[in-house]
Amino acid sequence: MTEFTEIHPTLDNYWRAVILFGRNVASYKFALGKSLLEVAAKGTSVVSLSELAVPFSRHLCEHLKGCDKQVTSKSSRFLDECRKFNRGELTETGLVEATAKLGFVNVIDAFHIVDRSEIAVRFFADERAGVGAIRLTDDLFRMAQSYQRRNLPAEIEARWRLVETAWELSLPTSALVVDYDEVTGGLVAQSRLERRKAVAPCRDALNGYQKGKCFYCFADVSVEVGADDLGDVDHVFPHTLRFRIPGSPLAGRINGIWNLVLACQSCNRGAAGKFDSLPALRYVERLHARNEFLIHSHHPLRETLILQTGDDEPARRAFLNEAYRCARTEGGLVGDNWRPVIEHERAFGPDS
Ligand SMILES: [Zn+2]
Repeated sequence: MTEFTEIHPTLDNYWRAVILFGRNVASYKFALGKSLLEVAAKGTSVVSLSELAVPFSRHLCEHLKGCDKQVTSKSSRFLDECRKFNRGELTETGLVEATAKLGFVNVIDAFHIVDRSEIAVRFFADERAGVGAIRLTDDLFRMAQSYQRRNLPAEIEARWRLVETAWELSLPTSALVVDYDEVTGGLVAQSRLERRKAVAPCRDALNGYQKGKCFYCFADVSVEVGADDLGDVDHVFPHTLRFRIPGSPLAGRINGIWNLVLACQSCNRGAAGKFDSLPALRYVERLHARNEFLIHSHHPLRETLILQTGDDEPARRAFLNEAYRCARTEGGLVGDNWRPVIEHERAFGPDS
């Protein structure tokens, strides 16, 4: 079992383990989670697949409208039925029938499995073989009436949007997915999957703002793999801070998209390159402006950036200031003030 539930094995923490942990290959777990909370609120314990299909398909149809990528596999017969419904080519009755038949094939079996093992509680019993239904457990009813119940649908929704965004942008989850942190009560970047090499596919997502220019010196960079001037994905706050200040909130989020930019090869690793040093403060300001731009332009990464750095502009500014302070003091980068040798004409960011 994960450390997460060992610390405080309350019902809602088991529930969060189901929703927040594990690798997702489809968003069905999120749809089922939302549906379970809704049917539990009605109070009946035996729920037929047709009854469950109503909220389940509604949630998936709604998400498909915003993001067509809901599974990692190439195709899904069930999702095709949902798309038909969204296009007005299938009635609601037809959708419910299709969902009862196709929608629950794996998700009911997989729901209670986290990191390849079953969690210690069950929120429903699978009675499909007997009565063609699931039976909600007392634990689910108890949780659905608990103080935490109000937060649970929003948590599922936030996680769902992060995961579908990662799929849509072909980003590694470590750049994007955040987890609930038991100790602080906040959401932090998932650290188990953090690997430096995993950031390469971020290029396309980052380049939209940078318009093909290096974040630091505004030299042209390419995002085409194989190009001579292929941009490097750079951590503004260097990746090595993870090892220098392992316990800090900054370390847990170092691979977050908030900290990643595209840099030309000479800025990143040239003769006078940045490597693992901390850049001058003006580049932290430039990073803040980039993140604010993405948030205010309703970029798909908006939710991720908010979750990783703060709910409003002052909070996000304070986060970066604190990160800068922490990198210089506890991180030991006090003397670092890296800047490129030359800077070309400004292509984005504040005039500083
Ligand atoms: Zn550069």
